[in-house]
Amino acid sequence: MRLDVFTLIPGAFAWLQERRPVAAVLGTELDLRIFNYRDTTPLSAGQVDDDPYGGGPGMVLRVDVVAAAFDAVYKGVPEHRVVALSPKGRQLDQELVEGLAVEPVLTLLSARFEGFDQRILDHLCTDVVSIGPYVLSGGEIPALAVVDAVARRLPGALSEGSGEVESFSAALHGGLEYPHYTRPAEFRGWGVPEILLSGDHGRIATWRSEHVRSVT
Ligand code: SAH
Repeated sequence: MRLDVFTLIPGAFAWLQERRPVAAVLGTELDLRIFNYRDTTPLSAGQVDDDPYGGGPGMVLRVDVVAAAFDAVYKGVPEHRVVALSPKGRQLDQELVEGLAVEPVLTLLSARFEGFDQRILDHLCTDVVSIGPYVLSGGEIPALAVVDAVARRLPGALSEGSGEVESFSAALHGGLEYPHYTRPAEFRGWGVPEILLSGDHGRIATWRSEHVRSVT
């Protein structure tokens, strides 16, 4: 898939591209492009935001700035899915992640300050998505969360099988994954459930299915 991110802080996306799962799919399953609104703004001195009409604190990302960025990259408003990251959006969950991961092309928009001019959300986007009911200072962390969550759904992103059985997956009926343990088998008197050391894969599978918790 091609994933385009529009941001004011392109450097925020550097480390993600050096690490799995994103690094594993970059250049094959994933074409990740990072665009800075300042590079295409029609305003002078790299201006991208302005005072809110009606007054009040903070600055608002301008609609003409986002439209100009789209003109430069897509020669107009894209026909594919465009997700604006905002605390006012639909909350991101695994179902939405999986829906986004099958899109051939996806655009993510982040803002800073007070957020987007409403006309960006109304006319230039298809979706508004929140990563949770709290306010962050910018859309970069939410965009990183979406890029990571989407990238790990792409073929070859994870080691064989590891994306199949995990929290929220169909294999666990949408539940939370059973507990994991590794060496040492005993540490400070803290043991490991005997059954996991038994080598009896049938009983281990039963134990694991009994320890999947439902999402409350
Ligand atoms: N004034 C806004 C908050 C703006 S926060 C309000 O009260 O709703 C600035 C930017 O950070 C937002 O435009 C968005 O891009 C990003 N952001 C902050 N919290 C977010 C969240 N929970 N989910 C997604 N994006 C968020």
